[in-house]
Amino acid sequence: MPNVRNSLAANSRPDFGEMNLSELESAIEARGHPRFRARQIFTWIYAKGVTDFDGMTDLSRALRADLSAHARVGTPTLVRKETSSDGTVKFLLGLEDGRQIESVFIPDTPNQSFCISTQVGCAMKCGFCLTGKMGLVRNLTAGEIAGQVRVLAGELGLRQSRFNIVLMGMGEPLHNYDNTMKALEMLHDEHGLAVSPRRVTLSTVGVLPALERLATEPFMPNLAISLHATTEDQRDALVPVNRKYGLADILEAARRFPIKRRSRITFEYVLLGGVNDTPEDARRLVRLLGNIRCKVNLIPLNEAAGISFRRPSDEEVDRFAAILASARVTVSVRKSRGRDIRAACGQLIVEGLRRSPAQTAAALL
Ligand code: SAH
Repeated sequence: MPNVRNSLAANSRPDFGEMNLSELESAIEARGHPRFRARQIFTWIYAKGVTDFDGMTDLSRALRADLSAHARVGTPTLVRKETSSDGTVKFLLGLEDGRQIESVFIPDTPNQSFCISTQVGCAMKCGFCLTGKMGLVRNLTAGEIAGQVRVLAGELGLRQSRFNIVLMGMGEPLHNYDNTMKALEMLHDEHGLAVSPRRVTLSTVGVLPALERLATEPFMPNLAISLHATTEDQRDALVPVNRKYGLADILEAARRFPIKRRSRITFEYVLLGGVNDTPEDARRLVRLLGNIRCKVNLIPLNEAAGISFRRPSDEEVDRFAAILASARVTVSVRKSRGRDIRAACGQLIVEGLRRSPAQTAAALL
């Protein structure tokens, strides 16, 4: 089986897709080449989307040949791409170990955004989230997290454009802290895609020690905290990790979080009909958020087979939002994007664990 053997040999070569610029510099030097070549290679990989060393035309022939034989740029492969009637595009990507993840392009939120995964599956098991039903399969590597952005930017022809990155795909970014932060550093590098931290939003259930660590980082993305409940008991039931890192502690950490001038923490709140969407919930939420510089993003539940909650009516959503607004809490309602291709929040799960398309479609109606 020559092919299998070749690809095994290829996989044992150093993977430039996993390296930040300084690691790449060391790797290039270690092979006896000048350090500055690393910047050129980094630019080819990130800014120009070239992952085949032969295509890196400003490198000498000898360097290209050496790298082709002794290095590689691991990149997720595009398995399938589906486009929603609203312009949202969902990408199913394949990883080297055969696992798959989903990433989503959202054309207008109001800016174009890439919704990126940080884990295969998720350990948090929030009661209304399909990804949670998968459990955690494994963490993504930094290269796999940053690689999603490289693939989407290339596929969509957006390498030269501005786009936002939201870490709201599969997984809990603060449960895969080091790889997530390294990926953001790789994406931020000025020799590559140069994504500003202001264009990145990290969404978390609030893994407390990691949240406190994030508060000390030089690279500070925007922060979104998935709150979803206004009492400890209610949050224990909806977001199981609350039993370890409770609502009061999360809010205290949010209050202390060093937010940039003119920016605010976002609190995400999935509205579950008859569960956490009552006027009392809204009033409690106002009280809880009292002295935090924040805004609230309400997410009416995206229903799916296997999720036992109900999406509230538009009137119920408006009633909840109006109570917040009248108490001067900045509030927005997240528009559901890509529901027809099961790309909406909480719907990312890879094939095989999914019911048949017909069953899922029926559940969405
Ligand atoms: N683990 C992170 C990021 C991934 S989920 C987090 O929890 O924040 C991104 C957002 O989608 C979270 O606020 C999550 O609670 C929400 N979400 C999950 N399932 C959903 C569903 N079925 N309908 C609407 N929003 C959902």
